Amino acid sequence: MRDPVTGKPLRALVIAIDAGHGGQDPGAHGPGGRREKDITLAIARELARQVNATPGYRAYLTRDSDFFIPLNQRARLARQAKADMFVSIHADAAENPAARGSSVFVLSLKGASSQRARWLADTENAADLIGGVKVAPGNTLASVLLDLTQSGNMRASEHAAGEVLSGLAQLGPNHKDTVERANFAVLRTSDTPAMLVETAFISNPEEEQRLSNPASQQAIARAVLGGVNSYFSRQPPPGTLLAAQLEARTQAVASVATGGTGGSP
Ligand SMILES: [Zn+2]
Repeated sequence: MRDPVTGKPLRALVIAIDAGHGGQDPGAHGPGGRREKDITLAIARELARQVNATPGYRAYLTRDSDFFIPLNQRARLARQAKADMFVSIHADAAENPAARGSSVFVLSLKGASSQRARWLADTENAADLIGGVKVAPGNTLASVLLDLTQSGNMRASEHAAGEVLSGLAQLGPNHKDTVERANFAVLRTSDTPAMLVETAFISNPEEEQRLSNPASQQAIARAVLGGVNSYFSRQPPPGTLLAAQLEARTQAVASVATGGTGGSP
């Protein structure tokens, strides 16, 4: 399909899906022995399958098997794939085995929205240490530049994350019903709306079962994609199928409006 205005082929929206952890970094463990890295890969693959089955979308997986990728490399891969959005998939863990539900996080370079969000970002950022990545001392200029580009991106990320959180609410009560913020290294993408989804608690025996069940994995993927699609349907980037569809709807409404006024010859 081509853009009705420019005649150029319409491009697909690229959703970068990042399966958290991998390789020597297993992530969290469930009481039944399930590993976060396997669950995130299964959900990420299912999400990619659903994204590719949706007209106007294309999925990009940062990893499609069990290997380790440094956190900053994940965003770089997404950028190379010209991603329009970055979604990192994880499973949460807590000492309290009753803790349950989904939460969605966006990047904040200026403090976290809660103690737990800060703790979680520290835990997730430790992946690089587990993987043996030498973390360079903070480059001040780079972080100032990142800060500037991020501020415009923050709103887009929060908005998109809010849609995904609403999608997940349809599966059951969310762990947190607002989008949380913390300094997640994997979300430092600079120019793409980015979020980290803690799908459910692998530390909760019931949720560990659910996270390992293909039907539930499909439902989680469907909920995430529903949120992504609500976000992009409202503000589709120019030159995409969604933008052309929105334009067609707007024109249809306009022609009904003019046709309905009457009196014209
Ligand atoms: Zn994780």
